[in-house]
Amino acid sequence: MLKIGSHVSFAGKGLLTAANEAISYGSGTFMIYTGAPQNTRRKPIEELYIPEGKEVMAASGIDNIVVHAPYIVNLGSYKEDTFRLAIDFLQEEIRRTHKIGVKNIVLHPGAYTDKDAQYGIERIAAGLNEVLEATKETDVNIALETMAGKGTEIGRSFEELAQIIERVNLNNRLTVCMDTCHIHDAGYDIVGDVDGVLRKFDDIIGLDRIAVVHVNDSKNPLGAGKDRHAPIGSGWIGYEGIAGVVGHELLKDKPFILETPWIGKKETSERPMYEAEIAMLSGTTIERFGDEFAEDVERLHYFFDKVGIEPRLYVLNTWELLKSDAKARKADPREPMERLYDMLMENRVLSGDISEEAVNQRLLGFLAGPDWLSSL
Ligand SMILES: [Zn+2]
Repeated sequence: MLKIGSHVSFAGKGLLTAANEAISYGSGTFMIYTGAPQNTRRKPIEELYIPEGKEVMAASGIDNIVVHAPYIVNLGSYKEDTFRLAIDFLQEEIRRTHKIGVKNIVLHPGAYTDKDAQYGIERIAAGLNEVLEATKETDVNIALETMAGKGTEIGRSFEELAQIIERVNLNNRLTVCMDTCHIHDAGYDIVGDVDGVLRKFDDIIGLDRIAVVHVNDSKNPLGAGKDRHAPIGSGWIGYEGIAGVVGHELLKDKPFILETPWIGKKETSERPMYEAEIAMLSGTTIERFGDEFAEDVERLHYFFDKVGIEPRLYVLNTWELLKSDAKARKADPREPMERLYDMLMENRVLSGDISEEAVNQRLLGFLAGPDWLSSL
């Protein structure tokens, strides 16, 4: 069975909170930050409800989860204190990850800031050598994440990751986290040629290094070097592009983790789309949401067809407009999903008491296209 889940909260009762949230979405795996991603304050391990969380996981058959290191850690920094903090904190995170019983911790390799890429690669490799050496008592792997290439971040090409890996002594403990949004933004065409991209990855790094796949659509076109995630089907990669990765034979049995943004008209009404995304990608939509879901999506196709809106074209044209026409963006900054949501509400396409979350879930079903609908 497909192992797919999402980033979940580790607040409150730690692993127990995380496991319960993941299960509420129908997940088969999940990812946590051991504390706030933007700082290094962490609770003592005894307060993380590890045995309780593991019990809940076992009852649901969840056996492979992932930790994400905080993104303030920068092993590429030339500043001694930043570099030191990164090394020290990463060691602590690895020990914590080990105690939680997790095998892989995802790490953004680092950014070279005022230096250059070669400097960044050497510096990151030096930092990793120290971290791995100091945490030999654990069997935790560091999963270097493929990056989009925004700013000065390292890891925007498979070659950069390979260069880091070959400079690290204990590199049997280096794995890779492949992020669909990031590699797409870095210029790897997973929509047009997923086989070619995976073959290239295999040649340069080796597919056996992949420990986890981050599953995100992108708000930007191929090669934009940006890194802005979108719900599945609402971005430039599209549902079929994402499904082509998630269902790929060469990635079978890997854990797939959604980090898609929460959607809502107001901040207080924002909800994650994980439950629908998981069900759609794992082929359990009807099981999870009932026949009404398919009937509603059919209604959306009927309505949008009548007003001349084709899902893929509409999404791409709207992103293009928002990107290239500053005046139009200023006049109407709404993203594609919000525009479609508003049209549905104005025209009362779905029954009046349906929640905003349920409408957006059905919109994702619509954006997956007519072929997906008829496959249900
Ligand atoms: Zn990440």
